[in-house]
Amino acid sequence: MKNNLNLNVDKNFNWEVIQKELRHQFGNEIYESWLKKIVFEEKFTNYILVSVSTRFIRDWIVSRYLDQILGIIKKLNREIIRIEFKIENKVDKKGNEIQLNSNSKISFIKDSFLQYNRIDQNKSFENFVIGQSNKLAFEAAKKVSENISHYNPFYIYSGVGMGKTHLLNSIGLKLKEYKKVTFISAERFMYQFVKSIKSNEMVKFKDNFRNTDVLIIDDIQFMNGKEAMQEEFFHTFNSLIDKGSQVILSADRPPSKLIKIQERIKSRFSGGLVVDIQSPENDLRLKILKTKLDELNILYSEKLKLSDEILSFISSEIRNSVRELVGALNRVASFSRIYNKAPTLNEIKIILKDLLNINETKITIDNIQTLVCKYFKISKNEMLSSRRSRYLVRPRQVAIYLSKILTTKSLPEIGREFSNRDHTTVIHSVKTIEKLKCDNDELSNGINYLKNQILYKKENEI
Ligand code: ADP
Ligand code: MG
Repeated sequence: MKNNLNLNVDKNFNWEVIQKELRHQFGNEIYESWLKKIVFEEKFTNYILVSVSTRFIRDWIVSRYLDQILGIIKKLNREIIRIEFKIENKVDKKGNEIQLNSNSKISFIKDSFLQYNRIDQNKSFENFVIGQSNKLAFEAAKKVSENISHYNPFYIYSGVGMGKTHLLNSIGLKLKEYKKVTFISAERFMYQFVKSIKSNEMVKFKDNFRNTDVLIIDDIQFMNGKEAMQEEFFHTFNSLIDKGSQVILSADRPPSKLIKIQERIKSRFSGGLVVDIQSPENDLRLKILKTKLDELNILYSEKLKLSDEILSFISSEIRNSVRELVGALNRVASFSRIYNKAPTLNEIKIILKDLLNINETKITIDNIQTLVCKYFKISKNEMLSSRRSRYLVRPRQVAIYLSKILTTKSLPEIGREFSNRDHTTVIHSVKTIEKLKCDNDELSNGINYLKNQILYKKENEI
């Protein structure tokens, strides 16, 4: 499904260069097993759309590599702030194309690469967890989907990752049972508009939108098109409302705060019901975590069990959005898949380090050396000396080991910070500690304690 239209193609965006960099940074093995499978689809103003063949691959990549991949892309293209995945499982075991939604009433402007916006069967009212912060939006959405509301348009707003798309999707899922639903992002709407003008298909474009019973537009804040487009949008909008079609919109802010959108459009948006979703409260976060954990266990037949202590740790630390919460849980699930066990609280802190709100202090080798010396009650001079007494060797090896696992420094770089020791000494130290740790509880506890100290600088943590 390649986009042959050159409309949005950015000459500066080169997926091959990114792939090379991915291979370079992640190494051949990870690249060949996972990252190579990512197919670049399209670049938008501030995000790119890629596809992979299964949900599992997507989750795996998202939970383990996404931050780093985004970092690489951002270095080359600063405007990209997110990566969207679609699942391209269009081929069955015999290699035949599967006709998706062939008898569904959802209309997607006849353009195959629109399909990523297809209504997601997995985001319904049934699995939307309700709490104080989202109850109003949920109930209103439900009413809209039962077609008993006179909320037209219906407008939901909130910060990112709070469940807007989930609710919009739930409404679409419900209404498509008996109505013609069009579900599109504002960016896509603009893209279609421009494309239709260029290919002289404006009539088709208009028909497409004006013939729908339910028009759902996600992320309307990204609609910042030229006058002509806004004009068209305004008329489409009015004609839909006039003939009693339901219009549903989402944005990251209330209508009045939208920028680059005509005043008269904003005022039309405010004309129906406007609801917001607030930041999820602690109870809701915990409830979502538990629900998602059950879902994971059913969906992937996982047997991941997390203690109440861990669940409440995650839900109390990850407060920003539901998306982050779900992302955190996916990471934990990947960890348990690899190591075949549920992580301990300590391990959770390491896996989720970048998501936790704990004040991060930059981890330096110097800092590691200081804390390890303090713990073993030796001086830094002793640690860095060439003396090989046992009471110095072990702490030195521990410090080297921690430098390796907690910083991104290379082996030679670590060696240099330990009085120019050779990189083979670094490897030897890391291997020795890894081995000793397994059957020496005292050492293993000490290392965990030190890890905590280094990562969080909190004396009282386990
Ligand atoms: P938004 O559109 O506001 O950025 P999304 O709807 O994409 O947020 O939500 C982000 C993720 O969190 C999705 O995976 C969604 O299914 C999930 N999610 C958000 N709110 C809830 C909720 N109340 N219950 C269950 N899942 C939720
Ligand atoms: Mg969204």
